[in-house]
Amino acid sequence: MIHGLRLVSEKQLRVRKITQGTVIDHIPGGKALTVLKLLGISAQTGECITIAMNIPSSKIGKKDIIKIENMFLSGQDFNKIALIAPRATINKIQDTRIVQKEPVSIPDNFSGIIRCINPTCITNKENEPISSKFQVLQRKPLTIKCGYCDRVMDESESMVNLIFR
Ligand SMILES: [Zn+2]
Repeated sequence: MIHGLRLVSEKQLRVRKITQGTVIDHIPGGKALTVLKLLGISAQTGECITIAMNIPSSKIGKKDIIKIENMFLSGQDFNKIALIAPRATINKIQDTRIVQKEPVSIPDNFSGIIRCINPTCITNKENEPISSKFQVLQRKPLTIKCGYCDRVMDESESMVNLIFR
């Protein structure tokens, strides 16, 4: 007989509380790593991160969850997440409690995040430090238009032109 050993259920493990930070929920299954990369978070950047992948979700089929301790997200971070995970919700945790729960939404306009697919666009000129900007024409599927050269990009073109720093 083993005393003092308590099995941690999968559920408990998933909801392990963080004292302060951010929980990104309802990321489409398998997209968590792309979200982290787009947020500029890697093994080298040092944040304490918990990732759960491919959890059954009644809302979106399979979902990923990311918990980042001691980090809060900017408006631009919200935009980045919205483009990859439009149904994500961002939970802000303080003193182990959720103090804010906010869904992301794809903005009407955004800058950076995606590179214009047109090689002759001014935002792709090496010596012109101009960041890209786009107008969102349609949210589902995502369709965006470059604010400089008017090139329209569909969702798959957008997703292969994400800017990872
Ligand atoms: Zn362009």
